[in-house]
Amino acid sequence: MSDTSLPSALLAALSELLGPSGLLTEAGDTDPFCTDWRMLYHGRCAAVLRPANTEECAKAVALCAEYGVPMVPQGGNTSMVGGATPDESGKAVVISTNRMTRVHAIDHADLTMTVEAGVTLKAAQDAAAAEGLMLPLSISSEGSAEIGGILATNAGGNNTVRYGNARELALGLEAVLPDGQVLNLMRRLRKDNTGYALRQLLIGSEGTLGIITTAIIQLQPAPRSRETALCALADPQGVLDLFAAFRKQDPAAIQAFEYMSGTSMALVNSLIEGASLPLSEPAPAYALVELGSPRADDSLRTLMEEVLGQALEDGLVTDAVLAESEGQRQALWVIREEHAEAQKRAGASVKNDVSVPLSAIPEFITKATAACEALIPGIRVAPFGHIGDGNIHFNLMQPEGMDPKAFLAQDHAMMDTVANIVRTLDGSFSAEHGVGQLKTYMMPSWRGGAELDAMRKIKAALDPKTLMNPGKIFP
Ligand code: FAD
Repeated sequence: MSDTSLPSALLAALSELLGPSGLLTEAGDTDPFCTDWRMLYHGRCAAVLRPANTEECAKAVALCAEYGVPMVPQGGNTSMVGGATPDESGKAVVISTNRMTRVHAIDHADLTMTVEAGVTLKAAQDAAAAEGLMLPLSISSEGSAEIGGILATNAGGNNTVRYGNARELALGLEAVLPDGQVLNLMRRLRKDNTGYALRQLLIGSEGTLGIITTAIIQLQPAPRSRETALCALADPQGVLDLFAAFRKQDPAAIQAFEYMSGTSMALVNSLIEGASLPLSEPAPAYALVELGSPRADDSLRTLMEEVLGQALEDGLVTDAVLAESEGQRQALWVIREEHAEAQKRAGASVKNDVSVPLSAIPEFITKATAACEALIPGIRVAPFGHIGDGNIHFNLMQPEGMDPKAFLAQDHAMMDTVANIVRTLDGSFSAEHGVGQLKTYMMPSWRGGAELDAMRKIKAALDPKTLMNPGKIFP
C-alpha cells in the first residue's frame, strides 16, 4: 500500500532503480524525514529516495527533473532552520544520503579523506582517528549530521577558531546538479585557479544548487597533547579578555574557545543527567578552553597554567578546573555540547545564530538582552557559542509557565529585535546555521540589491525549474 502522489511511471522507474530499501512511500516510513530536529516544521513528501551511490542519485535526480518533481536533499536532518524539511504540499521527494556511507580512502601523504555524503561527521572523525589523524571539525550534532549536510551548510563548530569552517576543509567535491548531471570536482589540489570556484559555490548552498555526493576533506595530524579547562568569569568581556590572553601567548595552540552564559549553564545542570558543574559556585559566564599540539611534551600544560594562573591572580577568572584525564576532558565537553539539548527540553525557544566582530560581543549581548527583556517580560536569555569566532547563539527561552505557542507566535519580533542590534554592529543574522526556511524573510533586507539578484541568477542558471530544495534561502 503506497501513500505517494508520484506519477505511476515515475514510481515504477524509481522503484526499479532504487529497490525496496531505497524508496519509501508509506507515511509511517516517510514521516521522520518530514519533521525537523527542533520540531518546528512538519511537512509532507511524495516519497523518500535513498540512493546507495552517486550513480543512483544522479539517475533518480534526472527522473525527478524529467517529471518536474521538487527535491529536498537531506543528510542527518539536524538543521536548525528547517533547511531539510519539505513543505506541506506533499509534492516533493526527500532525497536522503543516509545510505551513502562509505569512507573511500584516507591518504597519509596528502592528509586527506575521501568520503561519501552520508557518512556522519562522527564516523568520519573516528575513521581519521583510527589512522592517527584528526578531522578538525566538531559540532554537538556530529553523531547525526552527515558530511553532505556539513558541506551544504558550511558548518562551523568548536574548532573553527583554529581550522576554519567546512569550506576551508573541503579540497574536492562531487555533486549531482538539478538536471541529474554529475559535477566532478574531486581534485585534491591546494592550488587550482582554473575558472570559477564551483566547489565553493556548492558549499553553503543549502541544497538549492545540487546534491553533494562525495567529498575530499583535509585532515590534520592528531594532537599528541591537549589541555582543557572550564573557567568561571564575571561577564562576556572577561571571556574575551581571557581569549586575548591565550591568543597573545600562542594563537595556534587554541583549538576551541567556547562561551556559555550562566543562564544556559543552569539549564544544562538541571536538565541533563551527568552534566553537573565541576566548580564550587555558579557564575554569570563560563569559558571552555582547549589547547592542542602535535608535540607530546608538557608545553601546553605550562601555557595553560601560566595564563590561567595570571587570570586568577588578576581576578579575571574566579574559578577554574583543568581536565586531568581524557575522561575528565570528555566530561567538560559534555557540559558544553548539551546546551542545545537542554534548551530544547526547557520549552519553546527562538534561536539567533549571529556573529559580530569580536570587539562588539559584550555590547551586543548587553543591548540584545535588554531589548528582548523589554519585548517579552520574563523571557530567559540563554546565550552560548563559539565566542572565539565572534559567533553567539543568542537563544531566547520562553518565560516559565508561558504557552509555548504564544511565545513562538512572536518569533519574528524577537529575531528582528536581535537582528537590528546585530546590524548596527556590522554582524550577520546567521553565522553558521544558514537561512533554511526559517530566515528566508530576512534575505531581502540583509542581502538585497545586487547580492540577492546575483544569487537568484545563479540559482536560475543551474536550476531553471526551481526543483532543488524550493522555499529555502530565497524568500
Ligand atoms: P540536514 O539537516 O539534513 O540538511 C541541512 C541543509 O543541507 C538542508 O538545506 C539540506 O537540504 C542540505 N543538505 C543536506 N545534505 C545535503 C547534500 N548531500 N547535498 C546538498 N545539500 C544537502 N551547525 C554548525 O554549523 N555548528 C554547530 O556548532 C552546530 N551545532 C548544532 C548542535 C545541535 C544539537 C544541532 C541539532 C544542530 C547543530 N548545528 C550546528 C546545525 C546542523 O547540525 C548543521 O547545519 C549540520 O551541518 C547539518 O548537517 P545535516 O547532515 O544534519 O544536514
